[in-house]
Amino acid sequence: MSKCDQDRITRKRKYNKEYGKRYMPDYLMRRTDKIRTEIHTLLGSRCSKCGFSDDRALQIDHVKGNGYEERHKFHSFYSYQKHILSEIKASSKDYQLLCANCNWIKRWENPNERRRKRTLPRA
Ligand SMILES: [Zn+2]
Repeated sequence: MSKCDQDRITRKRKYNKEYGKRYMPDYLMRRTDKIRTEIHTLLGSRCSKCGFSDDRALQIDHVKGNGYEERHKFHSFYSYQKHILSEIKASSKDYQLLCANCNWIKRWENPNERRRKRTLPRA
């Protein structure tokens, strides 16, 4: 690693510390992306509601809507992803892919979702 790279990382760490963000090195990003791609492929690479297929806006959804509780049982996002992958490989039907729109709409309609209760006027 060059001196320049080292300086860039040091600056980035300092910035993230100052603004409360966690630094994620490139190799960890690649690891996370790889497992995400694998999960998306196994789940069919498209939204189970509307068929949208742009990978950038696809999210892993918990069919039963208990993602919040499940996520908090894991100490890192990576170990959580690994858990999801092993569940899918063991033919679990608890996960599906939803696009960002369908996922947010599902959250709005889920009465158990942890959010401020609001009502939107319907067109
Ligand atoms: Zn969708």
